Amino acid sequence: MTFQTFKLNERVIDGVVKAGYVTPTPIQTKAIPPVMDGRDVMGLAQTGTGKTAAFVLPMLHRFLDGPSKRVRALIIAPTRELAEQIHESIETLGRQTGVRSISIYGGVGINPQIQKLRQGPAIVVACPGRLLDHLGRGTVDLSNLEMLVIDEADQMFDMGFFPDIRRILGHVPKQRQTLFFSATMPDPIHLLAKDVLRDPVTIRIGIQAPADTVSHALYPVAQHLKTALLMKLLGQTDTNSVLVFTRTKHRAKMLDRKLTAAGYEAASLQGNLSQNRRQAALSGFKEGRVRILVATDIAARGIDVTRVSHVINYDVPSTPEAYIHRIGRTGRASETGEAFTLVTGDDGDMVRAIDRVLGTRVERRQLADFDYGLPDTRSTQNASPRAAVNASRGNGRSSSSQANGKPKTFSHSRNAAHGTASRPTSTSRQKRRPQRWGESTAVRSAA
Ligand code: AMP
Repeated sequence: MTFQTFKLNERVIDGVVKAGYVTPTPIQTKAIPPVMDGRDVMGLAQTGTGKTAAFVLPMLHRFLDGPSKRVRALIIAPTRELAEQIHESIETLGRQTGVRSISIYGGVGINPQIQKLRQGPAIVVACPGRLLDHLGRGTVDLSNLEMLVIDEADQMFDMGFFPDIRRILGHVPKQRQTLFFSATMPDPIHLLAKDVLRDPVTIRIGIQAPADTVSHALYPVAQHLKTALLMKLLGQTDTNSVLVFTRTKHRAKMLDRKLTAAGYEAASLQGNLSQNRRQAALSGFKEGRVRILVATDIAARGIDVTRVSHVINYDVPSTPEAYIHRIGRTGRASETGEAFTLVTGDDGDMVRAIDRVLGTRVERRQLADFDYGLPDTRSTQNASPRAAVNASRGNGRSSSSQANGKPKTFSHSRNAAHGTASRPTSTSRQKRRPQRWGESTAVRSAA
């Protein structure tokens, strides 16, 4: 199958070629035809599947003709990074179409956005809060909207955006095409989907492709030795760009400081940063100046950096889905990647859940030359990792939400390359690169 199959206008195909896409990804194959036909779509898919182009290409095709100087499509996204990424995709794919897009999010000045809105872009990509601000000021008019895209609905729910989204819905016409994307579909998300979609085509895309290029390992360690173990691991592992996940903003900042002090080119991405500093950290990471980016789940959402060789979970994620999201940042575009997770004695439930979702017992590793017995010399308060870890559990979505978003299968031939579980790990084993897989999938082979 090629992009010609969709009968997209040549000017849109030109953007596809410029983006370097050869073969449509599974979600593009399934979603583009019904979207072109004007149908509503419910897409169970996440970042990394190519879902952005699945809705952007038909949108560009449709907007080549028809009324100008009015907002014809609204794409709602949870984070500014994702909004910016979608906007950039529209610019790349639509470079020959003349269809204009603008991104709208908080943390930056509102006036430049107002000015761009006055020029009448056809597509607005927005985070809910700032969009409501514009709606309140009357600086954006959605009354002529033809297409509404709600992207990463589960993430927006987690971030408490549903009331905002319902208010936004009051400003858009009832007669419209709606596309709704979510990696998981627990009840509250299903309820919103039912309210906004009319007779939708449902498309479900597993996330086998990115996972197939990633090998996984767990590193059991006491809470107070995590930083030391991480440093040791980094010292022994042949890495390119490394994305490290922490449970909280504070821990991201703390770890960034320690890594920087140890001489690593590190930066952190967390909610407390100014927009300028976020962008500096992100572009530094994308361009390779920052080798290690420490981030929280929310801050890292939707980050599309193809050269990430390692994702390291300094703290376990709060749900198996979050694990899949995190590791989805490595092993992209035919590259192989490794996912390391540091686990403490309190993380048993999550470890079992990760084993379950990956369909195998993930390899447990120990570093041969690391002193696992070092006592905790910190204050009593700090030395209570159990409480901290347990407290973190309550924040995530319930694990029952995995029912729909769960990947179907993960093959684990990588275990052959990495040896059996619980074996002490030598330096040479640390340096070994995982097998190259995933070439069989459309997404990866075309990239
Ligand atoms: P998304 O899931 O939309 O965030 O896309 C994930 C990555 O896949 C992005 O870097 C896209 O540029 C890339 N991509 C999307 N569609 C294709 C395709 N058909 N072939 C190759 N890469 C693609």
